[in-house]
Amino acid sequence: MTKIAFIGLGNMGSGMCANLCKAGHEVRAFDLNADAVKSAVEKGAAAAASVADAVAEAEIIVSMLPAGKHVLSVYFGEGGVAAHASKGALFLDCSTIAVEDAREAARQAEAAGFLMADAPVSGGTAAADAGTLTFMVGGSDAAFAKAQPVLDAMGANIFHAGGSGNGQAAKIANNMLLGISMIGTCEAFNLAEKLGLDAQTFFDISSVSSGQCWSMTKYCPAPGPVPTAPSNRDYVPGFAVAMMLKDLRLAAEAAGSAGARTDLGEMARRIYEDLDQRGFGGLDFSGVMKDLKGGL
Ligand code: NAD
Repeated sequence: MTKIAFIGLGNMGSGMCANLCKAGHEVRAFDLNADAVKSAVEKGAAAAASVADAVAEAEIIVSMLPAGKHVLSVYFGEGGVAAHASKGALFLDCSTIAVEDAREAARQAEAAGFLMADAPVSGGTAAADAGTLTFMVGGSDAAFAKAQPVLDAMGANIFHAGGSGNGQAAKIANNMLLGISMIGTCEAFNLAEKLGLDAQTFFDISSVSSGQCWSMTKYCPAPGPVPTAPSNRDYVPGFAVAMMLKDLRLAAEAAGSAGARTDLGEMARRIYEDLDQRGFGGLDFSGVMKDLKGGL
């Protein structure tokens, strides 16, 4: 049993916090939204009235916040985690943020005498609720060893990706590939259909040929071949366009600072930005298919 502070009880954090409680950890939960705290208490956590109150006795502080600016201010701002955590506590941020923000946070934590790891996740709210997330962890061996038992309670696959920021690097490189492959899959299904093939016939052929990819076999953007895919429920997410756009922007930022060429990643970013600007940020990211068919 570990004393844990959990900060950020939104779509993802609520399920993750509940799984920590279920595993027998003593969790003090905080969110700016009082209803979110109330619902965490119903699932076994103790309510904290502030960040300071949540972290005072915690051995591990877990956060699941919207973006880098929230993470830096929750940990290092006035009244933040670093000012109130007890000596030796581990900071474990599971939010998806810029690689540079994660490295900056780890630098500040270390300077204040704390261990910190970035541990972004793959898998949406269903995996957060079920405790089957994939965690990609960036940080020292000591931080990883301390984090692992807690991550095990929230996830099914835990990877140590290297030093600080490497968890975020793995996450955005993976999601950039996902964005590109989804758009490619949509274009291929649309082309095949326009040339006279139905979606199922093309799926049967391509899913065992060289075009095969996760976007096709697990999340087919054309309705029919994969019954669980959002394409069968008019592209209700799933994984929304706005979320994919966030990750592609982070990938573009990281590519810029690392000097990596990502021409297709950049094109994917523009395609999702266009959908978002036209008001389709809440559509599933496989909804590119609907757009190609003129349905938006
Ligand atoms: P969310 O907006 O539902 O939850 C964020 C929570 O943080 C909110 O409840 C908000 O009130 C709280 N918060 C914000 N500032 C705070 C502060 N200063 N102090 C305390 N609480 C604060 O977001 P989400 O969907 O749960 O996503 C969280 C993170 O996980 C994001 O970085 C996202 O990119 C990443 N992620 C999300 C998904 C998904 O499918 N939703 C999948 C993988 C990764």
